[in-house]
Formats: sequence, C-alpha cells, structure tokens
Amino acid sequence: MNGIKLSNQQPYAYFSLEFYDMANGIKGAGGLGILAADTRRIAESLGLPFVLVTPFYRREMHQSMVDGEQIETWQTRRPEDFGFQKVADFKINCAHRRTHKLDIYLKTIGSTTIFTMGSDDFGELYAGEMSGDGRLLQQASLGFAGWRALRKFGASPSVVQMNEAATAFAAVAWLDELVTGGMDLTAAVRFVRKRALYTNHTLVQLAESEYTMKQFEKIVLPNIQSRVVWEFVRSMFSRDNHIKMSTLTIELSGKRNCVSKLHAKVADYHDLMGRKVKFAAVTNGIDIDKWALPETLEKYRATGILDDKNRVGKVVPLEPVDIRKFKAIGRTKLNEVLKNRVDQYGQPVQIPADAFLFDFKRRFADYKRPWLPFTDLAEIKNILIENDAYYILTGKAFLDDKVMHDKMQQLLRTIDGDAELKKRVCYIQDYDEELAIALSVGSNASINVPIVGWEACGTSWEKDIINLDILISTNDGGVADVAAKSYLRVDGKNEAEELASLYKNMRQSIQIWRNDDELSKILHAQLLDYLPTISGPRMMGDYLQLFEIVLK
Ligand SMILES: *Cc1c(COP(=O)(O)O)cnc(C)c1O
Repeated sequence: MNGIKLSNQQPYAYFSLEFYDMANGIKGAGGLGILAADTRRIAESLGLPFVLVTPFYRREMHQSMVDGEQIETWQTRRPEDFGFQKVADFKINCAHRRTHKLDIYLKTIGSTTIFTMGSDDFGELYAGEMSGDGRLLQQASLGFAGWRALRKFGASPSVVQMNEAATAFAAVAWLDELVTGGMDLTAAVRFVRKRALYTNHTLVQLAESEYTMKQFEKIVLPNIQSRVVWEFVRSMFSRDNHIKMSTLTIELSGKRNCVSKLHAKVADYHDLMGRKVKFAAVTNGIDIDKWALPETLEKYRATGILDDKNRVGKVVPLEPVDIRKFKAIGRTKLNEVLKNRVDQYGQPVQIPADAFLFDFKRRFADYKRPWLPFTDLAEIKNILIENDAYYILTGKAFLDDKVMHDKMQQLLRTIDGDAELKKRVCYIQDYDEELAIALSVGSNASINVPIVGWEACGTSWEKDIINLDILISTNDGGVADVAAKSYLRVDGKNEAEELASLYKNMRQSIQIWRNDDELSKILHAQLLDYLPTISGPRMMGDYLQLFEIVLK
C-alpha cells in the first residue's frame, strides 16, 4: 500500500490544455478534449473528489465551407455565461518584469470542480505556431497559474494526471512548491513522481514540438521560485539547448499510460538516459450518460446490462423490435438536428426514415482516411444506389493542416461533379458533439478506417456501439483492445485490399440490417466484446488502480 487516498481536501487533479464540453462552454478540437470532459463527468457520477484544470479559450473556432474549402470563423465565449465564477486574478511572469494577467474561474459540479483561466489576449486553442511563444505561454499559464489556483482555493491534490505533455508545468509547479517549502530536491522529485501520472496520446516523441532555452528563460524561469528546481529543469535540455515537453512529463511522473493496448505497445518514447519508456494501457472510455440515446440506456438499465453508474452487468441480447424502435427514434433525432445544420452548399438536409445511412464523423486527418470510400466512384455509387443508401461525412481539419484542407476540397469537388453521388453523399458543416450524438443514434453503420497503428484510441466508435450501429473498422486504436470478430473488420495487406474489404463490409452491413436475427446477433456481439472497454467506471477504476486506489 502506498497510502494515497482521495478526499475533498485531497482530490484527484486533472490538467488538460484541451477540454470539450459545450454544456460548460469550452470547446476543444477533438478526442483529447472529449476525453478530459468525459473523465470529469464519470468522476462526478461516481462521486469522486476531482478537480479539473483547463484554459478557457474566449475565441472558439467554427467551420464553414465555401466552394468546398474550409473557412474558419470565430465566436466569442465568456466563462460567466456558463456558470463560472471569477475567484481571482493571477499574474504569469515573463522576462523583463513583464507580466501577463489571467482571470481564474471556478465552477463546482457535484463532487467535481472545474478551474479555468484566461484573458482577452490568451488566444484560441492551438493558436500560433507549434513551438511558438504563444503556445508556451498558454502551457505555462495552465501549469503555474492552475497549480496556484488549486492551492489557493483549498485543494492539496493527492494525485495529478497530466493529460498530454503540454501540461507538464503542473508537476514543475508542484516540485517548486515542495522545494521552496524546504524539502530537498531528491525527496521532492520522488514525492511528485509517486503521485504524478503522464497520459500520452501521441505515437512518436520526434513529432512533438520543442522549445529553446531562450524561450524557457523568458516564459518559464520567471515562474519558478527555487533556483535548484530551475537547475533541474535546465539539466534536461539537449546539448543544442532544446527541450520537449514530454521529457519533463517523463522525468516527473512515476506512472505513465497510453490510451489503448495497441498504442501502449507502439508508442516510441525515451527518457533522458535513452531508455525506452514503458507505458501502461488505460483505454479511453466514454460517459455513456452523455452519449447514449436515453431510450436505449433505459433498456440497458432495465435488462441489467448496465447499472445506474454504467458498470457492466450481464450483456443479454436485445430484441430486434427494440433495436429497430431505438434506431427509428434516433433517425428522428438526427433529422431534428440536421434541420438546423447545413451541408457543403449551405442547405439543410434530411435523411429518409427508412433509408440506410453510413456515416464518417471525426476529425479530417489524413491517417483517418475520410477519402477512402470515394476511391472507386463506380463502386461506392453502386452500393448507395442499389440499396437506397446515404452517406454523411462530417469533421474539421486542423487549422494548420494544409494537406487536409486541400484533400477535403478535392473530395467535395469530386462529389459535386457527379449528379448521382451528390444526391446520396453529403458533408455536414461544423462537426461538434451535437452532431456526434445525432449521427451515432441516427445512422446504421459507421465507418472508421484509420491506417493501422496510427490511431491512439478513438472514441467515436464507442459512441456508435453503445447506440447500436454496425461498426465497420480497421483493427486499430481501442478497437484492437479485444481479439474481437464481432464488428465488420476492414483488413488487407495494402490499401487496395483494404478498400475491397471496406466495400464488402458496407454491402454486408446493409444485408444484416434486413435480417432481424443477423442484426440482433452482431449488435449483441459488439456490446459483449466492447461494453467493458466503453464503460467510464472501468476507465476511472483503471486510473485509480495505477495509484492503488480502489474504486468502490
Ligand atoms: C467523440 C468525438 C471526437 C473523438 O473522435 P475520435 O476520432 O474517435 O477520437 C472528436 N470530436 C467530437 C465532436 C466528438 O464528439
């Protein structure tokens, strides 16, 4: 036993530069932020003492399409409008006695608290260049001001989870407090390591941004009080005076994890001694309360498939009549949402109640291959036309992902150039949580085809399984956690084979939907294989177990 316990005074603290939860007014870019928000929701439903620290970006990105091209537009958000209370303002110190004022806000929800911070010139999420001063200032703000805010308002964290390396300054601030308070460096480092967890979502350390000694001297050093701690940080720079944030998280954490079993195997990270870093696997789960169709969830509860905290009981088969009922309700909900949304031409669309619907809903990143089904136009057209089927695409490209901006435009032009395809394939603008839910409840089969080995976990497919979609997927990310044959697997030795496999599975999913027994069988098998993975309490329990804390 290591004696680590959680209480209201000593909560579980979670730092994340991204948070994605519109109900709380903060909209991240994708999976990393969704995970942070769901983790807080799961902690709340379990009654765990939990504090989350994250920036409040007052500039929020929205997407609109002009001639197939993604144009970014911006909306202003204010923490006050989402129930946050301003409790303090702090200064982040920069070189030459310059300071940067940050407002600190707080909101308590059940057993959890969100600390958030920002200012008018804080910038948007992922503002500026990858290794630029602006990013470093955001990261320093989160770590140093976030830590001070926690301490000032009563919390003395039992454990700190760093959701990605960008949050490393939380651990540096903790170390600085201990050393300034009189603990010697070695003991302080040991203390922090025992209680700090680094959660990695990236595959290769090489792909991460780096900062220079000059940038650290300007933006980080002025926020560290102890000379000894600064020397310790300085000692981690490379010979050419660069540092990666993951070097800090690796050196300051005793627990490290990746977000699926496959990811933990393939992530390639090294510590300062050049030793390969071992990662535990804690696969991302989701907050089922947030993502599941309420009617379906009620059925899961009534049959004992899930208990009231979304712990998995006995997975029993669902009646085809119920499945079809839930999907009909889901389709109506989807069409409700689509009334207020527009396609690539700025027009709202509706999907006929009895038509088969495929969807691809996730960030437009090249490795996720949104374009894959449109490689053989004759074939995709046949599948859709012969079966009266539709295909919805949605997802944003990262601001600076020029390749994907171009590929998206190319794809939309291809669709535009074909009258038949244009009738059955649409792209819905400005992908967000509302669309994610609407599509998982309202479509029949979802398509998830990352290049194998590239997806850290993915959670969209979990939303689909819980909402009784047939999953058509490559065996990657969290999908590969289970040696499962339940979903329709896309495989092949090369892309051409994978494409053939994808088309075969698309046809098969339509056949399955026509047959009650087949439909009930595959959806039951998917739930049986993946519900334990999807379950939020399973994820939270895995995290607590890293610290030998038992979830009751
Ligand atoms: C679930 C969700 C994600 C996560 O997507 P993955 O590609 O599965 O990691 C991203 N964005 C939104 C809006 C979501 O709802």
